[in-house]
Amino acid sequence: MNRFSPALVRPTRPLSPALVDRFAAVVGERYAVTDQADLAPFLVEDRGLYQGRSALLLRPGTTAEVAAICRIAHETETAIVPQGGNSGLVGGQTAHHGEVILSLRRLDRVREVDVTSNTMICEAGVVLAMAQAAAVEADRLFPLSLGAEGTCTIGGNLATNAGGTAAVRYGTARDLCLGLEVVMPDGSILNGLTKLKKDNTGYDLRDLFIGSEGTLGVITAAVLKLFPKPRSVETALIGLDSPRAALDLLTLMQATAGPSLTSFELIAAICFDFVVRHGPGLRLPMTSSHPWYVLAELSSTRDSETGTMEAVLANSIELGLIGDAVIASSDAQRRQLWTIREMISEVQKHEGGSIKHDISVPISAVPDFIEAANAEVARLIPAARPVIFGHLGDGNLHYNVSQPAARDPKLAKETFLARWYDVQHRVHEIVGEFGGSISAEHGVGVMKRDELNRVKDPTAMTLMRSLKNAIDPLNILNPGKVV
Ligand SMILES: Cc1cc2nc3c(=O)[nH]c(=O)nc-3n(C[C@H](O)[C@H](O)[C@H](O)COP(=O)(O)OP(=O)(O)OC[C@H]3O[C@@H](n4cnc5c(N)ncnc54)[C@H](O)[C@@H]3O)c2cc1C
Repeated sequence: MNRFSPALVRPTRPLSPALVDRFAAVVGERYAVTDQADLAPFLVEDRGLYQGRSALLLRPGTTAEVAAICRIAHETETAIVPQGGNSGLVGGQTAHHGEVILSLRRLDRVREVDVTSNTMICEAGVVLAMAQAAAVEADRLFPLSLGAEGTCTIGGNLATNAGGTAAVRYGTARDLCLGLEVVMPDGSILNGLTKLKKDNTGYDLRDLFIGSEGTLGVITAAVLKLFPKPRSVETALIGLDSPRAALDLLTLMQATAGPSLTSFELIAAICFDFVVRHGPGLRLPMTSSHPWYVLAELSSTRDSETGTMEAVLANSIELGLIGDAVIASSDAQRRQLWTIREMISEVQKHEGGSIKHDISVPISAVPDFIEAANAEVARLIPAARPVIFGHLGDGNLHYNVSQPAARDPKLAKETFLARWYDVQHRVHEIVGEFGGSISAEHGVGVMKRDELNRVKDPTAMTLMRSLKNAIDPLNILNPGKVV
């Protein structure tokens, strides 16, 4: 068992050939995968932390097929792991103990775009970038945007309540969803595909499934909110001295640009050092260097609304808040700035081991949190390198810690990663001291399941377990994840 191996929740019985045949009869032979070579891509994940195992991958093409699969699973007490784009970062989509994998990717239809209601009905397997494109085709915006948008799916986005770079303006996946169609663990179908903004008819079942990481039901379709498409976008990279200066800049931008503020990303200089060192020909489009940077974006539905960014930045320079800034003068330059930002996670791999945290604290506490966490990390592992970036506008930081630069990086990596839980424990304790959360956007999965037990309000944990028990008493859906 390695550091990331999740505890065995209950033994998974080997699937009998007869049971495999029953499942296969639902989706058709072609979509019931038993060949290990074909299964392999569904058993690994982006960071290489988890290796799953499974004898069967099912690829249903309709909600009715998902329901039939769940009915058989319920009847035979067969554990199932729902999987979308397999871009999750906490091991939630991995079959750790031989469960059947239920891939939703073939449910990939945009069922409807309603420009008057400003809604779109997408099936769970629609890739996020495809959902964005469908909105654009209707002259609308679907604003959820994240680094994995070329692979992650709407079902996965909702199951994890994904955040991303535009949450400061539009909110998280939860805020972008009006209704859900969900297959329950016993195979019944909850038809909640409502477009209503106002519907006070009892408990909010939609919100129960959003963020439940496939433990309560299988999301098969969703009503998503659409917005007017921005006609003008202004993007700037800004160099400054400290997270506190960044916070002051955020306050100023919010006061000046109001709801036009669409993204506000804080990035420590070391992130860009890594990007320049390991990224494919990437350069920072700024001549001076700074300890911290902000990537900020304003957008407006009015064609002519430009110049706000320049005015805010000029004001900030006068106030001594920022050192230098560049404003993208074309869409290509804008893309380049975002590429540099999105490369950070990827290039960090080249610097050896990295202990990851995906935390949030109240926005006003971000500078003090960084100071306290950095001091603690330095005490635990002198010369470890905090590689901090994240969505400052949401108080959400990817507080990652890279191993000290070393002569023997492989040996240093093993020694460093052996401290994963020491470091994580203390960082999460500091998060708690500031009233924060140990999972701002990636979810709990198996990675943070034990940690959640340690830090979350005990009454909240009891309620969550009661809900899981009531909805999935046989523990069929994603056993061993979250609760
Ligand atoms: C490069 C990169 C950048 C990322 N950036 C961000 C970011 O900025 N913000 C952010 O929030 N996340 C980010 N992520 C994490 C990841 O992309 C999101 O968690 C995403 O929402 C997962 O979608 P998916 O379709 O890949 O789901 P998967 O990885 O397949 O599954 C994730 C979880 O959802 C469950 N699930 C999937 N589909 C369904 C369904 N239809 N019904 C019920 N349960 C389901 C799974 O069981 C699992 O628990 C990033 C990941 C990468 C690799």
